[in-house]
Amino acid sequence: MTPTFNYLSERAKELRDLLNKANHSYYVLDSPDMEDAVYDQFYRELLNIEYNNPSLISSDSPSQRLGGKPSKGSQSINHNIPLLSLDNAFNLKELKAWHERTNKLINQEIKYKMDSNQLELTCELKIDGNAIALTYENGILSRAATRGDGKEGENITSNIRTISTIPLSLILNNPPPILEIRGEAFMPNKTFERLNLNRKNTGNVLFANPRNACAGTLRQLDPKIVASRNLDFFAYSIHIPDDWELLNLNFKKPIAQSDALKFLEEIGFKVNPNSQLKRNLEDANSFYKYWEIEKNNLPYATDGIVVKVDCFEIQNLLGSTNKAPRWAIAVKYPAEEKPTKLKRLIFQVGRTGAVTPVAEFEPVLLAGTTVNRATLHNAKRLATLNLHNQDTIIVRKAGEIIPEVINVIAELRVSDASLVQLPKNCPECNSKLVRETAEAVTKCINKKCPAVLKGLLLHWVSKGSMNIDGLGEKIISQLINNGYVTSISDLYKLEVNSLSSLERFGKKSANNLLVELKESIKKPWQKQLYGLGIPLVGEANAKSLSQEFNSIEDLSKAIIDSPEVVTNIYGIGNEIADSISNWFADTQNILLLKELKIIGFSLGNTSNFNKNKSEDNTNKLYPLEGKVIVLTGSLNSMTRNEAKQIIEDAGGKVTSSISKNTDYLIAGENSGSKLQKAHELGITIINEKDLKLLL
Ligand code: NAD
Repeated sequence: MTPTFNYLSERAKELRDLLNKANHSYYVLDSPDMEDAVYDQFYRELLNIEYNNPSLISSDSPSQRLGGKPSKGSQSINHNIPLLSLDNAFNLKELKAWHERTNKLINQEIKYKMDSNQLELTCELKIDGNAIALTYENGILSRAATRGDGKEGENITSNIRTISTIPLSLILNNPPPILEIRGEAFMPNKTFERLNLNRKNTGNVLFANPRNACAGTLRQLDPKIVASRNLDFFAYSIHIPDDWELLNLNFKKPIAQSDALKFLEEIGFKVNPNSQLKRNLEDANSFYKYWEIEKNNLPYATDGIVVKVDCFEIQNLLGSTNKAPRWAIAVKYPAEEKPTKLKRLIFQVGRTGAVTPVAEFEPVLLAGTTVNRATLHNAKRLATLNLHNQDTIIVRKAGEIIPEVINVIAELRVSDASLVQLPKNCPECNSKLVRETAEAVTKCINKKCPAVLKGLLLHWVSKGSMNIDGLGEKIISQLINNGYVTSISDLYKLEVNSLSSLERFGKKSANNLLVELKESIKKPWQKQLYGLGIPLVGEANAKSLSQEFNSIEDLSKAIIDSPEVVTNIYGIGNEIADSISNWFADTQNILLLKELKIIGFSLGNTSNFNKNKSEDNTNKLYPLEGKVIVLTGSLNSMTRNEAKQIIEDAGGKVTSSISKNTDYLIAGENSGSKLQKAHELGITIINEKDLKLLL
């Protein structure tokens, strides 16, 4: 249904109010209300409405101005040349559209004769800092200003003088009377972390990110504080007066962005070393893909790349809009947080009976994948979010992490929307839900609840436990619905006839499944223990417990007689010990253990694992057990051989080539074709730091 004009008018107003408030928090208070990607999405929505309905453009729209006004009390400076922002592309498709648009402008409107393949592009990192304009009079730094609204910025000259990478005088014979240099002041990650730690210790409000910390620092009244914060600066543009001839023949007047970057370096500036001149769009795409991963290894924040038409003559012909040059575009990295609209809330019941609210929403592309549902974790979180029907929610998915709803934009709530609440009864078996204390998880305690059973069975057959491929969610549901299975042990009583009566399940698959089930009886003790699904006993804890206790009997005895032996195990605290104790107190679980023993499960140690343990009494875990890992590029803190050794010590296997069986690619600097292949196969790509985290 096409939205009515009235709806759009109201929506535009809501968005204007929301974005103007966000702008104030961001530019004036240096304390953003929302993630940049979320801001960008709302801003785009407003631009779309305004583009299709120009009568809705009002003078207070954030689309009508750039950045923020200089703050009150600061001394302002007029920019001789407007200091503009950049247009954004949010993916490579949008970069291609910009490239096509630019070529069309060049060929058809400007009529500059050139083949689109000849358009050279400078690719630079988009440093997440603050744009600064520096004026040099006769080669001496005379003033420095923030971007402000593009026409007028704040005078921050004395603060800028404290940044050691900004030369106070240029290495230039016969400098021109006026030279304007622009670039990005930024706060390196380490400095940012130190600053926030310090602020935390002294009870000060933390900065949200290095960019806001840098902006806040540049506004300081005391240059000594600025000096103590170690800001840095990368220069990326220069404005040389047209009438100025460089008298010193050693310097050639730059005629392209790539020349300008070299020139800036020669006259004493720090220039980002990663900029590259690219011959065509495909090469610019590769630059983006490379830095999308490698950005994590940089000691400063970047939020994308900037692609610029290299040739100054073409740049001048293309010109600018009132907000941004037409010859450049920022290509931002995929967002990890985005706003979307809630469609409905469903309530999932897991193997422990815990009820988890899950939001279903309009699909959004997050960190490279489309997501349309995300967990709210628990009832407490649901209450804190104060979620209403059709709310605009912020969802987050960072890397491999499961998507979650992190926020609600109450300003965009539709009128008379009703509050979403947790049901009183289990959505699966209709029995009354229980929540023992306000802090506790809401649970279905019906032992026969089909959702709980399904969760238990799915856990038992999962990769970390019995790893039974032939038993997916659909088949398990059918087994439960047909009454063939009422507990884990029933899986081992299944017969070919009952299995082959299931939907899309022939005799052959039935036989295969029975073989898989039979084989699973031999799985090691730790996998059996994990598969039991004792709440809070994940793979790592199951491993530690199985190393400490030779059998399920030993564990159940210890949990009653000497719980301190259990809580002394690394990673196991009182909460987990209580959970284990509660599990053994349930007669149904004891019955399950008996049945598993009859089936043939050892529920204890049959290997010489404990023998190994006594030789190596360090209670060492194998966090990478079974993981297939490929290394590429050069690593900073270790050699490739050292990394291989570490991975193998942690139970992983290092192979030389990428295949679909690879679990991780560890990409160091200058990763080549393996990185590309990993992208194509959808393999998880991590860096050195991530490896250390995994360990
Ligand atoms: P921008 O950050 O998208 O990009 C433009 C800026 O990039 C330039 O002004 C320059 O400072 C910088 N830059 C970095 N490296 C560069 C390079 N190599 N070459 C040229 N420029 C380079 O745009 P903006 O106008 O500075 O800020 C608008 C953005 O700020 C929004 O898109 C949003 O992401 C963010 N914002 C967020 C909030 C919030 O509440 N979170 C509020 C307002 C604005």
